[in-house]
Amino acid sequence: MLVVDESKCVGCGLCVAFCPTGALRAWGVCTINRDDCNECLVCVDYCPADALVVLEESTI
Ligand code: SF4
Ligand code: SF4
Repeated sequence: MLVVDESKCVGCGLCVAFCPTGALRAWGVCTINRDDCNECLVCVDYCPADALVVLEESTI
C-alpha cells in the first residue's frame, strides 16, 4: 500500500503533476485519495524527498 511519509514530504507538488489519475493533493503535506489511486507507483519515482513509500501488507 502506498503511503506518504509526512516527516519527509516538502509539499512540492511534483507527484500531483505526474499522477495519471489525479489521486494526489499537496496542500502542505501530500495526501492520497485511495478511491482514485491505482497503485501504478509513478509518483514514487518523481518524489524528490522519497516521501512516497510502499508498505508491504504484512507491515501495516
Ligand atoms: S501510485 Fe499512481 S495512481 Fe496512485 S497516487 Fe501514485 S501516481 Fe497516482
Ligand atoms: S513529490 Fe514528494 S515531497 Fe513533493 S508533494 Fe509529493 S510526496 Fe511531497
